[in-house]
Amino acid sequence: MAYLSTDAVEHHFHDVVIIGAGGAGLRCALQLAEKGYRVAVVSKVLPTRSHTVAAQGGMNAALGNVSSDHWHWHMYDTIKGSDYLGDQDAIEYMCRAAPQLVRELEHQGVPFSRLDNGKIYQRPFGGQSREFGEGGQASRTCAAADRTGHAILHTMYQQNLKAGTHFYEEFFALDLITDDGGCQGVMAWDIGKGAYHLFQAKAVVLATGGAGRIFQTTTNAHICTGDGGALTLDAGLPVEDMEFFQFHPTGIAHVGPLITEAVRGEGGYLINSEGERFMERYAPTAKDLACRDVVSRAIAIEIKEGRGCGPNKDYALLKLDHLGSDVILERLPNIHELALRFSGVDCTKEPIPVQPTAHYTMGGVPTNRFAEVVYNKNGDHDVVMPGLYAVGEGACVSVHGANRLGGNSLLEIIVFGRACGNQVMKRLKEHRYHPKLDEDCWQDGVARVNRWLDEHRESDDCEKIANLREEMQNIMQTYFSVYRTHEVMFEGVEKLEALAEHMSSLVIEDKSKVFNTELIEAMELENLMALARVTAAGALARKESRGAHARDDYPERDDDVWMKHTLGSILHDKVSLDYKPVRTLPMTVESFPPKKRVY
Ligand SMILES: Cc1cc2nc3c(=O)[nH]c(=O)nc-3n(C[C@H](O)[C@H](O)[C@H](O)COP(=O)(O)OP(=O)(O)OC[C@H]3O[C@@H](n4cnc5c(N)ncnc54)[C@H](O)[C@@H]3O)c2cc1C
Repeated sequence: MAYLSTDAVEHHFHDVVIIGAGGAGLRCALQLAEKGYRVAVVSKVLPTRSHTVAAQGGMNAALGNVSSDHWHWHMYDTIKGSDYLGDQDAIEYMCRAAPQLVRELEHQGVPFSRLDNGKIYQRPFGGQSREFGEGGQASRTCAAADRTGHAILHTMYQQNLKAGTHFYEEFFALDLITDDGGCQGVMAWDIGKGAYHLFQAKAVVLATGGAGRIFQTTTNAHICTGDGGALTLDAGLPVEDMEFFQFHPTGIAHVGPLITEAVRGEGGYLINSEGERFMERYAPTAKDLACRDVVSRAIAIEIKEGRGCGPNKDYALLKLDHLGSDVILERLPNIHELALRFSGVDCTKEPIPVQPTAHYTMGGVPTNRFAEVVYNKNGDHDVVMPGLYAVGEGACVSVHGANRLGGNSLLEIIVFGRACGNQVMKRLKEHRYHPKLDEDCWQDGVARVNRWLDEHRESDDCEKIANLREEMQNIMQTYFSVYRTHEVMFEGVEKLEALAEHMSSLVIEDKSKVFNTELIEAMELENLMALARVTAAGALARKESRGAHARDDYPERDDDVWMKHTLGSILHDKVSLDYKPVRTLPMTVESFPPKKRVY
């Protein structure tokens, strides 16, 4: 392998480096750049291509513009939705902050849809109630038609340009620079030029988004490969609650693109092959607006019991034509286009074929409610890793626990993006200078790329990156789907571990440096594989059903044993699991103790 001198690595100094230019990274960057700090945002794609752009339905806040509402009811719904695994201090913080931050977004330029009286339009979404579940359905989701994420991301990007944030676009983060003092920076690869960059900073923020691509059929973009979690694992730190993966009930059958819950919020509903509105049986009160885990399981049961639609009886139908084309074209224009393009269905006339599809990573890099990365040490579960922060879908704060409510993620990225910025600011006031780095701190990052580009590495193993990735996604989809059992998952773990062993002998064909997409795919596969292994091991170990983790062999929730977070690490190439308690004490109000979840 060619030896590099430090001259071949471009060295940058910033106060803070944020990896990820989705809503979470950009909201955090804005908080700091507006105060005059030198902020770098490193992103593997152009910022406005981050997955936040795809968010459709909206963002929750108890504004009470359409129904009566209160942040405390929002808090109750979120805790119940999380199947009591969410941390109640973080949930209180998020729900209380929501109304103010939605108004702030409006002032920053997000073009929310309007009611006739000029206030922000809010639609009903799953799992939303009034008066702690006693007052019926709430309308809490603030929307910009069905392109809310697009509106938020573009506004955040523009505000950052104005505030002077430094963007490093199409740069791939390779390795965190850590030492006894904590995290000091990150090594990155300039995809376009094929060059190494060392970003030295007093604080590093991981805002790298979800890991939906560990599954075969997913609503997530190709870039959602869980890179932040993998960087954390590589630094010897754990990831939290990865076994909780949300399957959205209404991905377009066989292809995956999302049909937002807003369709059901606006009055659409699901039917089976007999034309029956089956959610009335599973959730008599909330019906089609029960939580996502409940609706996904109901569709899976309908299919399993032979009432699926289509030639293979493997999907349900989402009916919305009765809403009328005016409503559809005004409030759900994107859905109309997606259904037409991906399933050839004009939804103003016919129902859309839908299936549960991997959608959201509830787990991620463990943090406290200030977005500081935490880990277990000598029995203390909240030891802070100095200088390292995580925020957004790639983090686990944990406001979603075992199941996320629709509309709570756009909220999370804005609330905790800002909170993270504030916390980083405190650190910057205490740490005025960059500490000296170890001389060889950049070498692991360089070695990661060089291993793939090494001309002399050959392998008898002719497997291609794409094939291995497909095998991994296949295993996750087949063995760790909506319903899980010990036998099936045990086999899945064995297959996955065997597959992971192939990683060290894989080679790529393209050894060039400039815009080498095969190299990026190879490194993304390394990241996906690490997260898939931790996800699978955590799922096999958790012997209960809670939220998105539904087991046929353990159908009940077991609060005595399992009301705890999983922490998965990879140490000496073996997955190891640890646990930590749920934070059940909110900041100012009383705790919501666990009770049976009915909708
Ligand atoms: C189709 C779809 C619809 C959704 N609809 C809604 C909705 O209506 N309401 C709601 O609340 N939530 C919704 N969600 C969820 C929500 O959109 C996401 O959870 C949220 O936007 C994630 O934001 P983020 O900033 O954490 O990450 P992302 O927006 O995914 O951004 C991640 C960033 O990290 C960068 N990155 C990753 N790895 C690297 C690396 N190695 N090096 C450099 N950069 C890297 C990427 O370039 C990107 O800029 C939806 C999700 C999907 C997939």
